[in-house]
Amino acid sequence: MPDVFNWQLGRTMSYRFPAAYPKRQFAFVFNINRCLACQTCTMACKSTWTFSEGQEYMWWNNVETKPYGGYPQGWDVKTLSLLEQANPGGQVWDARSAGRPGTFYGTFKGKTIFEAAQARGGQEQAVGYLPADDEWRSPNIYEDTARGRRGAPGVYGAGASLPEHSTWFFYLQRLCNHCSYPACLAACPRNAIYKRPEDGIVLIDQARCRGYRKCVEQCPYKKPMYRATTRISEKCIGCYPRVEGTDPLTEGLPMETRCMAVCPGKIRMQGLVEVDPKTGDWKHDPENPLYYLVKEARVALPLYPQFGTQPNGYYIPPRWVPREYLEQMFGPGVQHAIEQYQAPSRELLAVLQLFRATQRIIFKFEIRKGPKVRDVVIGGRTWSMYDDTVIGYDSAGNEVAHLSVVEPMYVRPKKYLNSI
Ligand code: SF4
Ligand code: SF4
Repeated sequence: MPDVFNWQLGRTMSYRFPAAYPKRQFAFVFNINRCLACQTCTMACKSTWTFSEGQEYMWWNNVETKPYGGYPQGWDVKTLSLLEQANPGGQVWDARSAGRPGTFYGTFKGKTIFEAAQARGGQEQAVGYLPADDEWRSPNIYEDTARGRRGAPGVYGAGASLPEHSTWFFYLQRLCNHCSYPACLAACPRNAIYKRPEDGIVLIDQARCRGYRKCVEQCPYKKPMYRATTRISEKCIGCYPRVEGTDPLTEGLPMETRCMAVCPGKIRMQGLVEVDPKTGDWKHDPENPLYYLVKEARVALPLYPQFGTQPNGYYIPPRWVPREYLEQMFGPGVQHAIEQYQAPSRELLAVLQLFRATQRIIFKFEIRKGPKVRDVVIGGRTWSMYDDTVIGYDSAGNEVAHLSVVEPMYVRPKKYLNSI
């Protein structure tokens, strides 16, 4: 199998196809700390794409409660167990080289899902499993079910940074990661799955698919889903008419997907990042908000990078959750990311205001400095807050967002009966 470079793992790895990278990559950042689990994103996707016969169980976007929830049930624990079986005790990171060129989070020393399959004889492209019917039955199983109990330190109960929270849970928002090395694509014996060269969105060619369900089996995130009425598989299409600006609503300019655009918690930001054609890494572009959050501030981390698909969904980890659990889920950058989020730099605080400020995809931001507002002590250190202004621009350079860190207050005149 060819070797490809996986920048999230800090090394090359085996993959079925030689490297071929899109010009730009669809990517997103979710701030877990702000999610309400209102499922508005889930329903926006459902009512747009999966409301037809045979799609009843399809939730291309879902929000599950961790640590117990999952759709399909146990999807991540099962894949982690398969990797552990293939490489007992070896699924570890060497984070000493983190931050050096080529080893952004350090180096992953274990086996990816592709390498684990090779170790098992190479009959399959990636280790995986086909979920049983009952595992698809309850999309929000264990909603709001907490882990840990008071007075039981060491059993994920001690509370991480907020000691009063001796029990914990958090919401994990999930959709297809439009991976750079998609396992679904590698798994397909019909070559029916492809990655678009213009934006990296991964699609299933419905005319080629024969419903063998190899993509369902080998996607570690379990995001392709089989439709019994048509006998072919389907998956998230990244709302590509919006992303490419061909949907009439977009007026010709790239717009965020439905699930991103509706989020009342303002936790979601989606974008397109430029990709280096040689390495597949992101091109240096610190004025792109996604690039800034992932590569400059390092506040957002990939979901289970050790799977090896180089997913393009990034998460600001929840600060109240035990670090060992988060490190298994997001890799070795967790502590740094949480420190950044708890006491954000001036620039980061300004960029965080851009979440859900517009439906247009923001390609560039600019910050105009404002006055100091106050000093606060965080973790024993003085942190200063400034009322800076952040401005976002779309692909054509139009201003589409303009926000200050301190929200302005408007007082309604006492003109109407209900104006108190
Ligand atoms: S719409 Fe936003 S806040 Fe609501 S569940 Fe989805 S991601 Fe969370
Ligand atoms: S998340 Fe799964 S379905 Fe989506 S691109 Fe990656 S491997 Fe394919």
